[in-house]
Amino acid sequence: MSRNLGVAATFLVLATAVALAAPAPLDLPPGAQAAAKVIAKGAIEGPVRFLADDQLEGRAPSHRGDVLARNYVASVMELLGLQPAAPGGGWEQRFELVGINTHAPETWAFRARGDELALRFWEEYIAASGLQVPEVSVGDAELVFVGYGIQAPEYGWDDFKGVDLRGKILFVMNNDPDWDPALFAGKRRLYYGRWSYKYENAARAGAAGAIIIHTTPSAAYGWKVVQNSWTGEQFELPEAGEVRVKVRAWTTEAAARKLVALGGFDLDALMAKAHSREFKPIPLGIRTSLTLTNEISHGETANVLGMLPGSDPVLKDQAVVFMAHHDHLGIGKPDAKGDVIYNGALDNATGVAQVLAIAKAFMALPERPRRTILFAIVSCEESGLLGSAYYAAHPTFPIEKIAADVNFDAGNIFGKTRDVALVGKGKSTLDQVAEAAAALQGRVVTDEPFPDRGGYYRSDHFSFARAGVPGLYFKGGLDFVGREPGWGKQVTEEWGNAHYHQPSDEYGPSWNFDGMIEDAQMGFLAGLAVAQADAMPTWLPGDEFAKLRQTTPARKPE
Ligand SMILES: [Zn+2]
Repeated sequence: MSRNLGVAATFLVLATAVALAAPAPLDLPPGAQAAAKVIAKGAIEGPVRFLADDQLEGRAPSHRGDVLARNYVASVMELLGLQPAAPGGGWEQRFELVGINTHAPETWAFRARGDELALRFWEEYIAASGLQVPEVSVGDAELVFVGYGIQAPEYGWDDFKGVDLRGKILFVMNNDPDWDPALFAGKRRLYYGRWSYKYENAARAGAAGAIIIHTTPSAAYGWKVVQNSWTGEQFELPEAGEVRVKVRAWTTEAAARKLVALGGFDLDALMAKAHSREFKPIPLGIRTSLTLTNEISHGETANVLGMLPGSDPVLKDQAVVFMAHHDHLGIGKPDAKGDVIYNGALDNATGVAQVLAIAKAFMALPERPRRTILFAIVSCEESGLLGSAYYAAHPTFPIEKIAADVNFDAGNIFGKTRDVALVGKGKSTLDQVAEAAAALQGRVVTDEPFPDRGGYYRSDHFSFARAGVPGLYFKGGLDFVGREPGWGKQVTEEWGNAHYHQPSDEYGPSWNFDGMIEDAQMGFLAGLAVAQADAMPTWLPGDEFAKLRQTTPARKPE
């Protein structure tokens, strides 16, 4: 008897634990699962094939391919029955772009202790103008090593220690401190660890320029990506009075080693010094001058906006945003095969196709959701999230009435997975929504597989987060159905090393759409649940973005 009681009690505890662990089921309207089924291979493969075609010429902003992509997306939205949602009643939220094509000298000379070192462009250094003017010059400026170049009061960390850095060239490490989970979230890269933060913070200190020391581990990508991403025409929103450095540059690790040796320093010893809160800027005794000439162009691109108005008399004034960027790198340096078209098939014809397929599913619902659904196919992600930043600064719904965004960038082309990697897991109550949607597919939500890559700060949901809107950015994890353990990590890393931001990012017969379909269906169900819920999702207490929404009355949980 007692043994049976023991077994029953254990069973009860287990059952309760499982029940407690399982996410609360999604509150979905009738017909939701059937509508999700319209997200099928044809609905995704067609748009991918078109957008990734050579005819689109890599969809560089304000170029022919950009206009073709925008027209295509608008026509599909119209075909699906969406309503135009851009200011003025059209499909396009247009914005001005400034193109800057910087020409840097073949060599960049540095002098110290009567000696000189010339770094070679492309092989050893890359430099781009920080200003939107025909020429920028830095004359006889001193190099100062500033460690990570971070000022983070919440971590009691200040690499500048009040030193006057005005007019200097800062020599700075990439990433953020990663050796202690309690400090800068350990291995997870925070915004402090992003290249953009390094230049922004150098500008706030009044520096003339900054040189980031490239190492593959601290960048989470190879020098090739720096070469391709930082040369050729760069796009920016028109300057709006923000502080900027004149010169934004990178050097290879080998060049950095030679450079500090010119001043009598050892790179490893300098970097070791930076691994401490006590670090103070180190003048390297090295001086340099540099002039960059720029071709400046003015162009225009657009976010394509379509919507399905909500049915609830109150909540229809609030929106759930599905987002993906339509741009890529355009035509650039030839690869080994002489291919110059950066097709951007995976990055990001896939995401655009997934969002259009999700729109098709929403149109298949028997009833319109309570909140309005906005589909935002944004431009200029590759140039620094410009289209989503422009939208967040010029929202077509009051930003506090945007409940959440679901962002699709770089879909899974390798097949079905048992897990879903949620980038930025642990930031908002959307985690539960994602877990419940994944559970409907028999999948589990995991943390992002490469937290050191700073994925949360590298795509368009980040522009919305900076405006206080929580978002979901996820894709299939590394546990592929029918594959050996480790296969997923291997194929995704191989793909990244061979094709990320290369002309070879092309659509091909080896693509398996099953994973992308399942991810789009999950996004549809999660976004639909947010559109139906009485209350909006919220940031978790203490999150870096939580404070941005507490001040906004509409956000307080009802
Ligand atoms: Zn992308």
